[in-house]
Amino acid sequence: MDKKYKHFETAVIHHGYDSKQHAGSLSVPLYQTSTFTFENAEQGEQRFAGEADGFIYSRLGNPTVRVLEEKMAILEGGEAALAFGSGMAAVSAVLLSLTKAGDHIICSQGLYGCTFGLLQLMEEKYNISHSFSWLSNEEELRQLITPQTSCMYIETPINPTMKVIDLSMVAAVAKEHNIPVIVDNTFSTPYLQKPLELGCDIVLHSATKYIGGHGDVVAGVVVGSRERMEHIRGTTQKDIGGIISPFDAWLLTRGLKTLPVRMDRHCENAEKIFSRLKEHKRVKAVYFPGDEEHPDFLITQKQMRKGGGLISFEMNGSKKDAQRFLNALQLIKIAVSLGDTETLIQHPATMTHSVIPLANRLEMGISDQLIRLSVGLEAWEDIWEDLKQALDSLA
Ligand SMILES: *Cc1c(COP(=O)(O)O)cnc(C)c1O
Repeated sequence: MDKKYKHFETAVIHHGYDSKQHAGSLSVPLYQTSTFTFENAEQGEQRFAGEADGFIYSRLGNPTVRVLEEKMAILEGGEAALAFGSGMAAVSAVLLSLTKAGDHIICSQGLYGCTFGLLQLMEEKYNISHSFSWLSNEEELRQLITPQTSCMYIETPINPTMKVIDLSMVAAVAKEHNIPVIVDNTFSTPYLQKPLELGCDIVLHSATKYIGGHGDVVAGVVVGSRERMEHIRGTTQKDIGGIISPFDAWLLTRGLKTLPVRMDRHCENAEKIFSRLKEHKRVKAVYFPGDEEHPDFLITQKQMRKGGGLISFEMNGSKKDAQRFLNALQLIKIAVSLGDTETLIQHPATMTHSVIPLANRLEMGISDQLIRLSVGLEAWEDIWEDLKQALDSLA
């Protein structure tokens, strides 16, 4: 954590912004500008040459965006961060920066649907292959490494099956081969899990989810060493151009300030809902990292502060029953995305993971009966009452 602010809860509010430099404005000013004027031609030359600090053009950096980047870097325990216009812009900027034609990527068995789509695209266009693995032990991982392996890409907990991967184990094996490990930390946020401190190299987020937290922004963030971030800033961010708007960065710094408070409540509510879902007769199985009987619970305890706010569960019956259940909900909203104040529910097989071919999808553990629930900040009693009445209505 930042030398100046010892605690996460304080840094998330104060780090990266000095009101004295902004006319005393308590809130971060919104620099809604495309470009920055130079005092003279020489200053322009120096800034382009990297010999003088200062902003040039908002695709290359913006003061409002910079506050968000400074905060995210310190919260994840990294040196620098980059903000993007979506989580997928962040994922693609990172993967394209670390690979070239003919390379190979090792991935967790289970990925966000569009990340899966991007890997397919990279294979078709650039012959960049990938292997999926549960990464459950060192042997399994070592067998996948080839001379062409240029990075590892991991989600944990995995969306939507909630399997957990031991990040320090993966990082240790990758280090032996000098292969960078990228972690999609969207589900956990740095409040619950810090992959860089476990030896991984790059963390990325769909900031659309818990970082923003209010369902009003689509954005992404990448964190890592200064050298890696400067490289991405000067190549796949600058030239592909998936940048965030100043206003969206402003919304994210505002959302971030309450991240610890929100996450505590998301986690508490999820624990309550989990234990009740587990007892319901229409529910066949519940997947939640905070479950003491979860096969990966020891890893969760080692690397996560709490179990998070997402729960997946498998229902008895058919796909039609799963859809009837969703249609019977009154308070809970049927929507993809997660990490919002509202409780959201979705059907991965026909929604977030519908682009994945059936065989791959089943291998990842995504059946037609699987439901993903993002537990919101409403009173847990109200969330449970709604789930229960919809489950009971199927009986
Ligand atoms: C939503 C999501 C993404 C993609 O982010 P966008 O902001 O929608 O582009 C990537 N990874 C995970 C785990 C996600 O949940």
